[in-house]
Amino acid sequence: MEKNRFGKAHRLGILGGGQLGRMFIQEAINYGIDVYIMENDVAAPSAEICTAFTKGDITNFDDVMAFGASMDVVTVEIENVNIEALYELEKKGVEVYPQPRVLEIIKDKGIQKQFYVDHQIPTSPFTFIDEPQSADLHSKLPFVMKLRTGGYDGRGVQVMRSEDDLQKSFEAPSIAEEFVPFEKELSVIVARNKSGEVAVYPTVECEFNDANLVAYLFSPADVSKDVERRAKEIAMDVINKLDMVGILAVELFLKSDGEILVNEIAPRPHNSGHHTIECNITSQFEQHLRSILDFPLGSTDMTRNGAMLNILGSNGHKGPAIYQGIEESIKLPGVHIHLYGKENTKPNRKMGHVTVAGAEMTDVKRIAAKLKDRIQVITG
Ligand code: ADP
Repeated sequence: MEKNRFGKAHRLGILGGGQLGRMFIQEAINYGIDVYIMENDVAAPSAEICTAFTKGDITNFDDVMAFGASMDVVTVEIENVNIEALYELEKKGVEVYPQPRVLEIIKDKGIQKQFYVDHQIPTSPFTFIDEPQSADLHSKLPFVMKLRTGGYDGRGVQVMRSEDDLQKSFEAPSIAEEFVPFEKELSVIVARNKSGEVAVYPTVECEFNDANLVAYLFSPADVSKDVERRAKEIAMDVINKLDMVGILAVELFLKSDGEILVNEIAPRPHNSGHHTIECNITSQFEQHLRSILDFPLGSTDMTRNGAMLNILGSNGHKGPAIYQGIEESIKLPGVHIHLYGKENTKPNRKMGHVTVAGAEMTDVKRIAAKLKDRIQVITG
């Protein structure tokens, strides 16, 4: 295995080249680590800043093998990758983090939920719906129907409240989850390196928009000390029980009686951790790098309070992107802008994000509210 000047694996490959890879590379540069990307879209956000770009299909066995075989460490930016190839690469001595075994559990929401049940991790009760067309869905109302594989950002999730909603049921194998009347949606980012060291970030709270994308994130979450402690405990429990290496986002529901349930997990840097770039000592991207290279993990302590807003493609605009309102936004104190370098916009496409950092949460929230709708991504 080729080693870099730290004596660690040198060639680091990422499957997927979106904004998560781009922000990861921005941190890897500080360590002098070369990052190779494989992705089908040659104009993807990571393409222009990676060490070398390979055009390829991350779901294709041969493409993943050809790319991964020359790497020392391979990681992913998205769960939807060819897992068989990752197992093969592991056998050949390539380190793959998160491990293919973990990706296999997470990729299928049915297996993921079963993992929680088998490992005493709190989650809402569920049943499998193998053949939705012939299943008796009426008797399950109200429930949440989730496609077992292929869904993301809320696509593949349908809340079924009434008989009418059942018309929107999916046709592929799914699960039916008990509807959780949650008070808040929380998220905890946790990292674990190969040596088993674990580092957990303060809990954040998220508000989602109609398209199920994070509209606002606040760090720290406005919750009791007890909820904070319990949310972190659950996140650490999940990563330990998965025996996973890398960074993991644990999305949680907080109920009004204080009960916390795991909604779902993502084994990679996550939208709910973007604020860590400016608001915590170690960003989630640097932490991911540290964990997969088995470096000591960094402090997760907050340096400032934060809010994060996604910059989404405006409705009714599809084509080459033009950003409006950036200059007025960065005039406000504590505002940090991140544009992902995507050439084309479309409604609700994640085009960038803004973080507001500040000493006082009331100021941070006031500025975040001013930013809402101020930045528009339109076409000419
Ligand atoms: P995705 O993987 O596409 O992000 P999620 O499983 O996170 O999908 O679900 C998207 C959203 O749907 C959640 O953020 C939450 O608001 C809502 N949701 C999901 N499961 C439930 C549930 N069991 N009860 C109530 N709301 C839910």
